[in-house]
Amino acid sequence: MPELTLNSPLQYLKGVGPRKGAALADYGLHTVHDLLGYLPRRYLDRRSIPKISQLRIGETATIIGTVRAHGLLYGRKKRYEVILSDDSEHHITLVWFAGLKFFAKAFKKGQLLAATGTVAFYGGYQIVHPELERLDDVSDRLIHAGRIVPVYPQTAELTSVGLTSRGIRTLTTAILDQLAEPIPDYLPPELLGDVQLPSSEWATRQIHYPDSEDSAERARRRLAFDELLLLQFQVLGNKRYKQQATRKHHYRPPGEMLRQFRAGLPFQFTEGQKKAIKEIFTDLTQPHPMARLLQGDVGCGKTVVAISAALYAVENKFQAALMAPTEILVDQHYRNWEPPLSKLGVRVALLSSVVPPAKRKQIGAACASGEIDLVFGTHALIYEYVQFARLGMVIIDEQHRFGVEQRAQLHAKGENPDLLVMTATPIPRTLALTLYGDLDITTIPDLPPGRLPIRTAWRLAETRDKVWEYLRQEFVKGAQAYLVYPVIEKSENSELTDLTAAFEELTSGPLAGCRVGMVHGRMKPKEREAVLAKFRDKQIDLLMATTVIEVGLDNPGATIMVIEHAERFGLAQLHQLRGRVGRGARQSMVVGIAHEPISEIAGKRLEYFAAHSDGFTIAEADLELRGPGEILGVRQSGLPELRLARLGADNDLLEMARSLAARVIEPNPGDNGLRRLYKYLDTATRSRETVTAGG
Ligand code: ADP
Ligand code: MG
Repeated sequence: MPELTLNSPLQYLKGVGPRKGAALADYGLHTVHDLLGYLPRRYLDRRSIPKISQLRIGETATIIGTVRAHGLLYGRKKRYEVILSDDSEHHITLVWFAGLKFFAKAFKKGQLLAATGTVAFYGGYQIVHPELERLDDVSDRLIHAGRIVPVYPQTAELTSVGLTSRGIRTLTTAILDQLAEPIPDYLPPELLGDVQLPSSEWATRQIHYPDSEDSAERARRRLAFDELLLLQFQVLGNKRYKQQATRKHHYRPPGEMLRQFRAGLPFQFTEGQKKAIKEIFTDLTQPHPMARLLQGDVGCGKTVVAISAALYAVENKFQAALMAPTEILVDQHYRNWEPPLSKLGVRVALLSSVVPPAKRKQIGAACASGEIDLVFGTHALIYEYVQFARLGMVIIDEQHRFGVEQRAQLHAKGENPDLLVMTATPIPRTLALTLYGDLDITTIPDLPPGRLPIRTAWRLAETRDKVWEYLRQEFVKGAQAYLVYPVIEKSENSELTDLTAAFEELTSGPLAGCRVGMVHGRMKPKEREAVLAKFRDKQIDLLMATTVIEVGLDNPGATIMVIEHAERFGLAQLHQLRGRVGRGARQSMVVGIAHEPISEIAGKRLEYFAAHSDGFTIAEADLELRGPGEILGVRQSGLPELRLARLGADNDLLEMARSLAARVIEPNPGDNGLRRLYKYLDTATRSRETVTAGG
């Protein structure tokens, strides 16, 4: 047999053959190298195999023993039992209450088994529903027991050809025993020292068969570092590419228009806003286009910063476009900013489906001929009929609501325009570096002065009447409130209290006589606009709504928010909703109403929500509770999946990867190791899509 190398086809490994080979190939596993990259999901600690006579009740143990008897028992509860004994001649009973049919055929007397589980005592030792493995001979004992063993991801296809965790273990053990060449390390040794990580060789062996939990973690971190380094290499490469683009526009120092704009504002900028504007304006005098993420908690005042940036472009005879995800939000931006801006001579337009189609075409044409300076729009802005004469500034509000493609399309309507993307869901630093590493980041850390912290509580649905009572009292005192529902109409198999039914019920019952309005996504824009206008003008006390109001809506008069079915919302979304209140000087209150059954995780979420008001803390917790894929549309970000890296926990690795990637990417790294690393990373990324998280 030829020597086993990393490139050896798996098919020729002992015990593989064409059938297993084909099944592995279906999962992209062709070579020895590929299979070494097939990583365990978790481990079973089988280092010590206690004798049955030495078992302690309550401990989790693996027992190796021979099947003495097995059969179906009809007692109080039907069950399948297997009696196992070991060299100590003591025995233990394995019990199953489910899958009985399967077990009837699964065992043979005299068979050697390894059973893992928690030891209990009912007239004798027993384990209920143990993890079970068959051991065929003594050598099996060495592979599947006596050490920490990997549990590999299982699929029906692999299992059907005998490649269970156990089957794969046999292969990886053989490979690691027989491999006739070292596993190469693309990180030069001198850099390995810098980052204090073990070698590829060590990590690859230990990730499959770790000596200890600690080693498994060290191995995971090394391989996670590899993932992160590749990712950062891509992201920074992308950034560098953007920086190499030159902007045609050269801005003069800020002038009269900006001064007047600022003087006309009813407030002073916060320190955070000042710093943000400074950073943005500095970008705008550079030779390369700006690509910046502006983040800050809900209500911190990002819009006025963005408007300032747009105005700076306009002052320099360029056009600006601001895209926001909902009509409500775009309307509001237009209504808020059109009056002060047109006073300064800025030609402002609105483009969304609220605008009649013919008018939209006209506006598109006016943008193309340069008669519009600043256009606010929904994704309608990316349609074909909207062209620009000199688009210099693209602003994306609530950018996580847009896909990569949509952001890129708007961006492409200018010639290397400056890009400002905003998000009200603060992104934990780790995620920001990972996702938006190609953007510079500005954070507004403070809120406008005089805002009282919002009080948050949650109640069970049974006590809801008290909430309505509270609302009635507050309305008498002149307060305004939101009441949010997760869906519009009851679907047949859903228990959710729906918005329209609740509207009927409340207005004819507990809230009769109160001025109540309703908005949702299926209304005609005109009708919806009319209701929102009444709410703003305080002709309505209570606005009942779906989550269409989630982003951006700004009515400082509203100080109460009630969220029905709060248990259904994610943490970030709850926080986002909460951001609709607490915008004025009056004390605001948020009440989540939770309906049974409330899962453990939902309960945790609600507790956390009530206890924390800082968006950054919330975002970190959300990341932990839901995983990065769920939050912020990571899935649509176009980034490769991270298999080993844990955002949050691996912060330090991410920072190291980022700084190493930055060194590698330098135009003249000068050092041979770095140059080789560049080559490696470049080849590794070439096959992948380019990352364009920022548009
Ligand atoms: P967000 O960052 O969530 O987009 P907005 O830009 O909608 O927040 O601002 C929230 C509210 O705060 C608006 O009513 C806005 O006019 C007001 N605001 C913004 N900046 C200040 C400031 N420096 N002082 C007082 N109010 C401000
Ligand atoms: Mg906003």
